[in-house]
Amino acid sequence: MTDALTNLLDLDPAQLVAFCGEMGEKPFRAKQLQRWIHQYGASDFAEMTDLAKSLREKLATRAVVRPLQVLSDHTSSDGTRKWLVDVGNGNAVETVFIPEETRGTLCISTQAGCAVNCRFCSTGKQGFSRNLTSGEIIGQLWMAEFALRKSKGVAPGPKGERQITNVVMMGMGEPLLNYEPTVKALKIMLDDNAYGLSRRRVTLSTSGVVPMIDKLGLDCPVALAVSLHASNDALRDSLIPLNRKYPLADLMAACRRYLEFAPRDFITFEYCMLDGVNDSDRHARELIALVQSRQNPVPCKFNLIPFNPFPESGLTRSPDHRIRAFAKVLMDAGIVTTVRKTRGDDIDAACGQLAGEVQDRTRVQERMQKMSTYQQKYGEDFGRIVEIRS
Ligand code: SAH
Ligand code: SF4
Repeated sequence: MTDALTNLLDLDPAQLVAFCGEMGEKPFRAKQLQRWIHQYGASDFAEMTDLAKSLREKLATRAVVRPLQVLSDHTSSDGTRKWLVDVGNGNAVETVFIPEETRGTLCISTQAGCAVNCRFCSTGKQGFSRNLTSGEIIGQLWMAEFALRKSKGVAPGPKGERQITNVVMMGMGEPLLNYEPTVKALKIMLDDNAYGLSRRRVTLSTSGVVPMIDKLGLDCPVALAVSLHASNDALRDSLIPLNRKYPLADLMAACRRYLEFAPRDFITFEYCMLDGVNDSDRHARELIALVQSRQNPVPCKFNLIPFNPFPESGLTRSPDHRIRAFAKVLMDAGIVTTVRKTRGDDIDAACGQLAGEVQDRTRVQERMQKMSTYQQKYGEDFGRIVEIRS
């Protein structure tokens, strides 16, 4: 029965206007609805007291605001909070809140598993299960904002202090391989009648799906982070299989093109520090040559991420002194470089540890099979928007 109802979390602002239009309602009703849902956290139409009773009743027969099922909710000793969310069929994804003095950042997932299969990432090692819907993507922000407000006793509504000031799409999955739902969710984040986040405070992280970087620049430019992790193609091929399809020269060109649309005037390059693999001074100098090439420089910042180890990877984290030395080479060349603090380790919420520990491990084989079907079906054309249904 519920499936016949439209989940309003799945609709971007324009679609909500169209949905109201189908019910014979004016566009401003969509704005009111959006405010109730995304600013007050309301899921029950009966609560939406400035809508006519007849409309509330009509909505109840056609629509629903379907919350995500939270399987677990843990807070780390450093304040990092991680929710594990059920997305059906034994799959779970993670959402992580990282509080800092001046901001609160939510890290959200866009896919259950990931088909890119980077060597250093435990999400990739699980295989690919499915794309999240836009309702499941924005539903993470909705769930987290109002759960945080509740814990802190902050009132719902636009007057209550916003708990989440920044969003990063750096959880599980490759957002640009789940393009349309991701962009719909981004549009809701940016909308003034929903979360009203500035484009600069929303960051999408990608392993480098070149055609989709261009498309994002046209459709919904937000701050862009690119997972670089290597200074030359041979090394990047071995760490991120997608590099064979979109090598560094193409990726750098896409970054330059994106900057014409981007809300920030630089790209953030993420670089996971892997002991003895990509962390020598030679690699740092190669990176400088890559981003400061005379013909085609890429204005950028580097964010060095200490590798978060997991048992099957066979990789280890670079020692701190190596990370510092590597950062110095970049900084001496005038590149702004930060080293990411590792947070939430004790609850497995650090980057690349988002593996969904309650997942039914026996299904890993099945997901790996699905991933290879995906790769056979689409070859290496990861730029296509695809969804494999089981
Ligand atoms: N698929 C996207 C976004 C999710 S991954 C991407 O790859 O960019 C978010 C970030 O975590 C990426 O920079 C990724 O390379 C990094 N990461 C993945 N596994 C990691 C690990 N084990 N340790 C540290 N960083 C990791
Ligand atoms: Fe996928 Fe990103 Fe993990 Fe690579 S690092 S496997 S693209 S989630």
